[in-house]
Amino acid sequence: MNNSKMVGMPQYNPLESMMSRFNQAATILGLDDQISNVLKSPDKVVIVNIPVTMDDGSLQVFEGYRVVHSVHLGPSKGGIRYSMDVHLDEVKALAAWMTWKCAIVNIPYGGAKGGIKCDPRTMSKGELERLTRGYTLAMKDVFGEDRDIPAPDMGTGQQEMAWILDEYSKIRGQNSWGVVTGKPLVMGGSQGRVEATGRGVMVSTRGALAKLGIKPTDATCVVQGFGNVGSISARLISELGVKIVGISDISGGYHNPSGIDVEAAIKFVANSSTRSLEGFTGGSKVSNAELLTLHCDVLVPAAMEDQITAENAADIKAKLIVEGANGPTTADADPILHQKGTLVVPDILANAGGVTVSYFEWVQNRLGYYWTEERVHRRADRVMKMAFDNVYQTAEKYRVSMRIAAYIVALDKVASTLKLRGKF
Ligand code: NAD
Repeated sequence: MNNSKMVGMPQYNPLESMMSRFNQAATILGLDDQISNVLKSPDKVVIVNIPVTMDDGSLQVFEGYRVVHSVHLGPSKGGIRYSMDVHLDEVKALAAWMTWKCAIVNIPYGGAKGGIKCDPRTMSKGELERLTRGYTLAMKDVFGEDRDIPAPDMGTGQQEMAWILDEYSKIRGQNSWGVVTGKPLVMGGSQGRVEATGRGVMVSTRGALAKLGIKPTDATCVVQGFGNVGSISARLISELGVKIVGISDISGGYHNPSGIDVEAAIKFVANSSTRSLEGFTGGSKVSNAELLTLHCDVLVPAAMEDQITAENAADIKAKLIVEGANGPTTADADPILHQKGTLVVPDILANAGGVTVSYFEWVQNRLGYYWTEERVHRRADRVMKMAFDNVYQTAEKYRVSMRIAAYIVALDKVASTLKLRGKF
């Protein structure tokens, strides 16, 4: 449903986008309404207000959320997002997507997501630390190595995970390495975690190009978003031989039909005071809207939700869309892309490399035995390839898009587990 008429509300609601796909898959599976209702409702919704002393001495209150969608397959798992756009329906959708994602890659986790309404780019390191510790304290009875395990998402990274680990360990009176993933290497992080999501996007792109009969060295690609997922996806996809002809971030889009030097762009962002592509001269400036409809074979949306909609789906030239971001395509765009024959590798499959290596990190923390980068990559690539093949075959079997097939795989698994565990 389009909420554009509601003043102050986002135009699209990611929770409704999720529900629309859920309902299609549930109908195909013949899932009974009672089980569907359980799977649609989050197990737990926690809202906290976190007072933080700012550097100027003032006291500000920040609203934080944690939604645990499901623990049927194992402890819940999901990132924490810092953004002014965070709202409860978004966190609920992201939490449910985590449940489906973990089921698709066959790891023993349920789904959760957290968020704090804040603008991390305008906050000092000290303010961010106090906010993160306050959030952890408020969530001390939600988080837990065998209960609910956070990770990074938009606006958070290794430093926030280190603060969460430290604060939680102090509360418990012992180091709890496995309570959070995406930690720095020296604090029990895993080799390969930083690259994991982008690497999974690359493995999905490689698999989908093979299905389409396109040689990577003949292909061009546009990537929207140049943070953790976008920049690493761009680098690894370019290493396949694909020419990256467009990149973008919050500062806008950059187009170069002769190919963008991705390494130079990554260095540019790392050295820029704004931590963005603002001022990058390796491509001509285009708007983010123009970027999505550039001529290319592969489009990787890796920024945020609701970028490909019924308004622009018909204008998208890419034959293949590999969703690095969560929820970049709205439900009303799905049929337009499907009818055009655009192959879409959906978010809950394409970006599942991140949670897969988060799981490996947690396993290593529990074992106290750490793997080499080569082992992490090999195992994660195998998981992603198996999940891709399973979803692709399911799409062929039911004659549906890969997105609906991914929901079918996930719902089938979670619903059968729920039935076996029993209802009350
Ligand atoms: P990030 O904060 O590192 O990067 C986000 C990027 O998007 C930045 O380059 C930012 O400038 C850009 N951006 C923001 N608003 C934009 C706009 N309006 N137009 C174009 N670009 C814009 O975040 P990330 O971790 O890379 O996450 C990106 C997406 O991938 C999110 O949807 C997130 O949920 C999803 N995701 C992340 C992970 C992970 O491991 N980090 C795993 C799975 C999914």
